[in-house]
Amino acid sequence: MVAMTYIWINIKEKSIIELSHISRLNSSAMTNLLNNYQGLLKSVGERVLELDGLNNTDEARKLVDSMLADNPGLAGFGLSTPQGDLVLTSSNIVLKQPFNFLKMPETAVDFKKALESRHLIVGHTYFFEGFKKWVIPIRYALRNEQGKVMAVLSTGLDLDSNVHIWNLDLPEGVILHVVRQDRSIQYDSSIVTPEEHQMYYEPIAPEVFDRIKAKIETTYGLDFEAFKTSGLTVQTENFHNDAWFDVIGYNRQYNYLIAASKMYRTLYMAIVPYAAIILSSLLILNILLALMFRYISRLQKTTKETLSYQAHHDQLTTLPNRYYLKEYFGRWQRRHGHDYALLYLDLDNFKVINDHYGHSIGDSVLVELAKRLKECCKEETMLIRHGGDEFIMLLPYTDRQDLQHFIDHIIYRINERIRVEGLEFTISGSIGIATARNGATSLDELLRRADLAMYEAKKERNSFALFNEAMHQLSARRSEIEEALHTALERQEFYMVYQPQIHAENGYIAGVEALIRWEHPTLGFIPPDQFIPVAESSGQINAIGNFVIDTAFKKITAVQAIGQSIRLSVNVSVRQLLNQHFRSYLNERSAHYSLSPSNIVIEITESLFIEDFEQIRNLLVLLRDDGYRISLDDFGTGYSSLSVLSKLPINEVKVDKSFVRDILVDNHDRALIQSIIGIGHSLDIPTLAEGVEELEQALALKSYGCDLFQGYYFAKPMKQKELSAYLNSFKPYKF
Ligand code: C2E
Ligand code: CA
Ligand code: CA
Repeated sequence: MVAMTYIWINIKEKSIIELSHISRLNSSAMTNLLNNYQGLLKSVGERVLELDGLNNTDEARKLVDSMLADNPGLAGFGLSTPQGDLVLTSSNIVLKQPFNFLKMPETAVDFKKALESRHLIVGHTYFFEGFKKWVIPIRYALRNEQGKVMAVLSTGLDLDSNVHIWNLDLPEGVILHVVRQDRSIQYDSSIVTPEEHQMYYEPIAPEVFDRIKAKIETTYGLDFEAFKTSGLTVQTENFHNDAWFDVIGYNRQYNYLIAASKMYRTLYMAIVPYAAIILSSLLILNILLALMFRYISRLQKTTKETLSYQAHHDQLTTLPNRYYLKEYFGRWQRRHGHDYALLYLDLDNFKVINDHYGHSIGDSVLVELAKRLKECCKEETMLIRHGGDEFIMLLPYTDRQDLQHFIDHIIYRINERIRVEGLEFTISGSIGIATARNGATSLDELLRRADLAMYEAKKERNSFALFNEAMHQLSARRSEIEEALHTALERQEFYMVYQPQIHAENGYIAGVEALIRWEHPTLGFIPPDQFIPVAESSGQINAIGNFVIDTAFKKITAVQAIGQSIRLSVNVSVRQLLNQHFRSYLNERSAHYSLSPSNIVIEITESLFIEDFEQIRNLLVLLRDDGYRISLDDFGTGYSSLSVLSKLPINEVKVDKSFVRDILVDNHDRALIQSIIGIGHSLDIPTLAEGVEELEQALALKSYGCDLFQGYYFAKPMKQKELSAYLNSFKPYKF
């Protein structure tokens, strides 16, 4: 059916083109013919005037007779006076009685026109008694040199002549209509019988014209006047009658509509051979369809397989993905026994690479790492890219020693330098491991355990941790804390304590560090080391941080009111610092309490901000420009090197208490502290040692050049009231 419709449309299109062509061709043939006759009438007319044909009829008749012999399409010639009286005719015309053009209704109008025109006038098609023929009359007024009409020469195109009027044969089944401006038919190639010839006296119905105009409008958006000069043709139906299909053009010079028409039936007939072919093809088609369905179902199968592959694999590294793990875990387990280990690898600080060098470099690094991991894995190991910079390995586990080797090898391969586009990277990763005995553990549980272990490994970085029950408890504790944190602020469970900081040089008080405390009604005292990381990851740190700033500022104002102008250090977590409202809140609160920013120290933990180094650096510069002081907390524990110091707007380095603790016994820690202090000095950055618990520690630190002390030896963190009392009775320390 579709094929038939297609063929039908095709045939119709072809017919439109063909008829349009016929219409145009006939139009121009007609113009040529009439122009030629104009020339002919003009030259014959001139000769007739020369001969004084109106009076010298014999000579003139000879002339027109010879012209007639040369133009077989013409019915005859007639010469008349300007008053319409026919004076002379070619010999083939027999006039039984005098004839006057102006007195005949069929000819009067055209004759008058001819008298007024200097051009050829084509009259209405009519039956001329003198010829006993249907003719298309054409007349030309013969003028003297002054332009006065001396005579009118008429001739007629013989509609019944064997020679086609414009010497063009119409194709089989095509008819041509030429319609005058006044809707009368000038010529209709289908008219044959005498009765049919009467149609020349019946103008086309105005509705037909209206329909044509409407069709022009809908086809081209043109009005009829514009169409006339456009040279376009338009396809209409029932110009002739319903069974016909027409293409209509317009002859501008002679103002004719020229319609070429074909019966629909002939169009239908054109389909028949196609239909036969189609029917015979139907059998073949059936066979083809059957083959095609088979092909399609196979294709669908491969498509399904492709889609399944895409869904189960990571596009970047081509490694199987987490969906693959879910889908094939059971199968893997059945095939590879029931003692196995799941390794959860998370790259350390991978974000830095993406942020600093762009994702395409990051991607290349991941591809290289994936390749290395694959090389480490035996055939039975399932290696998965679990997401971003996380990979999972599932491997049979029999021996602790073997596992240890495998992990060492993996860490070694990860640490190997990676070169991408002229850049070099050293990557590290943290691995959490969970093992299953007798296949008793579900995939979800294994993932959870390995994740917890990985979290432990992250504390050290570039290392691994094996899951143990304590981690479970830790994670349960985290959930508990997170839950309790939701209401801690509104229930006013937080408060602040302050720990003094002492000048090494003279033993005077330099300032205090504000430290938060949380007393939960049922969970009891929860140290900040436990809940601050939870608050950071749950997003509650911003509200808590604001509480710290507001409370510490308020309390320190109260302390300063009693005459002590000391500086206040507040701990700000990276997440809090990155909050877009942090700086404005800080400025607004310090203004509110009339605290000078130069007396406020922002303590930032260096180990945490390596991943957003640039952004944090910019923020710190802004804070420094606002007048605040910046202290780098827990220095030495983190990842960044001493060179970070020169890149940041730092006013103080806090040496972590873990180094201070063993300073008297551990040469390594001592050396480290000495170099930190030395670099601080060379950069003009004072150092503060925290966790000073003994006088000996303070003395040693002082000898290395340490500037400030903080620790239990001097004072424990205390509430504001105790701090006020402490300050009131303060006497400088003597070292
Ligand atoms: P931090 O900033 O390094 O704070 C110093 C920690 O060392 C405090 O523990 C303090 O009580 C403790 N400390 C002081 N002197 C000694 C000493 O002589 N020996 C020993 N062993 N410890 C000493 P705290 O108050 O438990 O705070 C732990 C950590 O929690 C802080 O480490 C800080 O990172 C975080 N933290 C505390 N308060 C806040 C806060 O208000 N906001 C934020 N974001 N973090 C806070
Ligand atoms: Ca601190
Ligand atoms: Ca610290």
